[in-house]
Amino acid sequence: MARALDSGGTRMDRRTYEDLVELDQAHWVHPLNHPATQEQPILYERGEGIYLFGSDGKRYIDGLSGLWNAAVGHGRAELADAAAEQMRKVGFNSNYAGYSNEPAIRLAAKLADLAYDNMSGVFLANTGSDTNETNFKAARFYWEFNGKPDKNKIISRSWGYHGTTLGAMSATGMTVYWDHFEPRNPEIIAARRDGPCDSLSCQINGQCNGCLDAIVETIERVGPDQVAALITEPVQGAGGVFPPEDDYFPKLREICDRYEILLIVDEVITGFGRTGKWFALDHWGVQPDMMSVSKAITSGYVPFGAAIWSKQVHETIAQTDPNRKFMHAYTTSGHPVGSAVALRNLQIIEDEKLVENAAERGAQLLGGLQALAETPHVGHVRGLGLMCAFELLQDPESETRFDAALMMGPKMVEAMKARGLVTRFRNDHIVFAPPLVISEAQVDEMLEIIHESLKEVTAGL
Ligand code: PMP
Repeated sequence: MARALDSGGTRMDRRTYEDLVELDQAHWVHPLNHPATQEQPILYERGEGIYLFGSDGKRYIDGLSGLWNAAVGHGRAELADAAAEQMRKVGFNSNYAGYSNEPAIRLAAKLADLAYDNMSGVFLANTGSDTNETNFKAARFYWEFNGKPDKNKIISRSWGYHGTTLGAMSATGMTVYWDHFEPRNPEIIAARRDGPCDSLSCQINGQCNGCLDAIVETIERVGPDQVAALITEPVQGAGGVFPPEDDYFPKLREICDRYEILLIVDEVITGFGRTGKWFALDHWGVQPDMMSVSKAITSGYVPFGAAIWSKQVHETIAQTDPNRKFMHAYTTSGHPVGSAVALRNLQIIEDEKLVENAAERGAQLLGGLQALAETPHVGHVRGLGLMCAFELLQDPESETRFDAALMMGPKMVEAMKARGLVTRFRNDHIVFAPPLVISEAQVDEMLEIIHESLKEVTAGL
């Protein structure tokens, strides 16, 4: 294992490290974290492909592509060049009424081309959260202009993750993101948390037919004439990587059509090849009305997002009377530098056939994890493309979980980190989503580390 840890890194001078941590503790309120979790952070200094090099001088496999975004891997000079070239030309311009720029125009056209066949309109944004907010507002706008202003509520899913701005947080179906920030937006309604959606089997299958019943019940309870849209991820990501059953999305599409509800698909994680297709609903032959993308659009090199709309939604928004225009905007919408980086990044994904690679290497990773299910304490192995997960279980056969006090998930993540593989967990679910550039040998390297770490954390149980 020393191989993974010791190659190529430079240890930061101890004094500099301590000074930086002191400043960090004194001033920076980190996303999600409490200062207690930042007492000995790894400061990433350099990246190359699937690897990140830390201030401790060690090399880590980036097992989650940062936060599911570094699709083309780290240290790509092409993206640095694209940003620098655009910054030298125009680093920022307004895209409000009467102004535009070439990279953003070309990017909008490229996204419309790559997205589902029914789509044509693109609103350029910055993050996953603000892209979802854009879609919530666009759904309301759509129904108001179609004579149904009462259709203004949004339905979301248990265990869904859609971001942390107030609207996106309200749509996020994980209570831990609500605590201390209540009340949520009452017009955004999570499909029942108390029904089958919280049962063990449903959590494993993620999006099963029981969930569909919960969605229908919620729509009926709220009243279909008040529901604008339903938002869902194709494969729940932050919730723990739960691919749906094969007939889930065709049935969900049918439900949305039956009740005249717009289907917003949040492809912030799954977009641009992660699941082995450019966009995930292609696995099931379904087209949404609205889509949110972010993360891999620039491989995370600069913040960026985009709301992409069906021709029907696009036409409603584009063809309104100028006095009733779509008054939604971010200062940075259509940012020229972000757009130039996104265009170059999408070209790399195409040129290097990374969507195909995600399918092949994803199958290899899933197969390797399934083989680990032969060892005690590994169960619920699942995945789609390069999004895979398993759960550490006391007894996989009877599906008995470990006592939470044993902290098996955190221990496993720490054991992997010590061997040079970083990723995240939810409870005892361990998730993997390495950069799409990963090679066959590198997947084997990951599997070896996972296996060694498993042996360590389950020894003596
Ligand atoms: N949607 C999904 C599916 C996500 O995974 C995330 C981020 N993990 C978001 C939305 C929110 O994106 P951001 O953090 O960029 O606002």
